[in-house]
Amino acid sequence: MRQSKLFTKTVKELPKDEASYNAQALIRAGFIDKVGAGIYSYLPLGKRVLDKISQIIREEMNAIDGQEILMTALVPKENLESSGRWAAFDVLFRLSGSDKREYALGATHEEIVSPLAKKFILSYKDLPFGAYQIQTKFRNEKRAKAGLLRGREFLMKDLYSFHADQADLDSYYETVTAAYHKIYARLGLGEMTYLTYASGGSFSKYSHEFQTVSAAGEDLIYICEKCRVAVNREIIDEQKACPACGSRELAEKKAIEVGNIFKLGTKFSEPFGVRYKDRTGEERPTVMGCYGIGPSRIMGTLVEIYHDEKGIIWPANVAPYRVHLLSLGENGAADKIYADLINQGIEVLYDDRDLSAGEKFADFDLIGCPYRVVVSKKTLASESVELKGRAETASSLIKISELPARLEAKAGI
Ligand code: ATP
Ligand code: MG
Repeated sequence: MRQSKLFTKTVKELPKDEASYNAQALIRAGFIDKVGAGIYSYLPLGKRVLDKISQIIREEMNAIDGQEILMTALVPKENLESSGRWAAFDVLFRLSGSDKREYALGATHEEIVSPLAKKFILSYKDLPFGAYQIQTKFRNEKRAKAGLLRGREFLMKDLYSFHADQADLDSYYETVTAAYHKIYARLGLGEMTYLTYASGGSFSKYSHEFQTVSAAGEDLIYICEKCRVAVNREIIDEQKACPACGSRELAEKKAIEVGNIFKLGTKFSEPFGVRYKDRTGEERPTVMGCYGIGPSRIMGTLVEIYHDEKGIIWPANVAPYRVHLLSLGENGAADKIYADLINQGIEVLYDDRDLSAGEKFADFDLIGCPYRVVVSKKTLASESVELKGRAETASSLIKISELPARLEAKAGI
């Protein structure tokens, strides 16, 4: 992408009411635009990051046989009345249609996926299966002050699984847990993300959250480093010890809930009549699980964790571009390097604008691509470019012919 063509720019003036670091950094660097409290648009650079996060999640969901669907954002009132949540769910955005019927903007989709599954589940032979979507959710959050960490409109991946019995749900729940660990590792969050015991599902003693340690977090968790698990504050009173090893040496940390997995049991299959005929021909309710991850909250979390005083430092797997190529008045040579890198399949943001070196360096630091490549009269004198990692202070001169190979090597984080 030529930066001269990018319609967005880095921003000097921040919205006055934006208190969160992640949104400030993302607005300043031109990734998002603030429309209202907890409401943000994703700009070209931000959309690329959000898509990369979503794609990692998608690949891991497909690897555990999740089937991708896209459900409706409008949820009829009757559906939510069947589960009792029209009245009980305090964060619903409610609206009426021209047909005088009432709807909610989808905040979660058990009430859509359950009647959908009912249409296709007849016998035990139709089970198990899992269906997921990556979709915008709407919640009228009261505290929408944490930027992308708590949107009133935000992206969620929600997977729902359907099983003949609890044993089958239990085993798939473990499969999803392993898939979630893989996702956080690929996102650069593996080391600081803990499987956390939270207050019970409707069907089990605990549900589980995935909590990423960060000072920006709204949750308090108690970590057992030996077992790499944690307990949420909400249940810590009855559970003052590590649920895995019993140790009482737990470290209290602030954390961000980046995912949540839940054994629903028959909570939704009963009211929606999602039943199947077992081998003896007897009718039974299906047993369900639900599993959420917030890609937009993860984007905010990454910014909270990976930054310095100059700007964002994206982990390589989710960076908008792998390389930020800066031409210091040498567009002739830089154009050729840009074309060569693209031909080699390397993603490049190319600063071909007529700006000072200082402005270009500052934009590189704000935007946070893993590598900076500088083309100047001085570097060209030795048929070289200057290469620097975003998180590094020292740069080195690299022969232009060796550049693609150097960039293919694993980047910083
Ligand atoms: P919280 O306790 O933080 O409000 P939740 O328990 O309501 O989260 P779920 O309903 O389980 O969250 O949603 C699944 C996932 O969606 C969460 O783990 C989180 O990653 C994401 N998520 C939930 N609410 C928001 C929000 N308001 N903004 C951004 N992401 C969110
Ligand atoms: Mg919530």
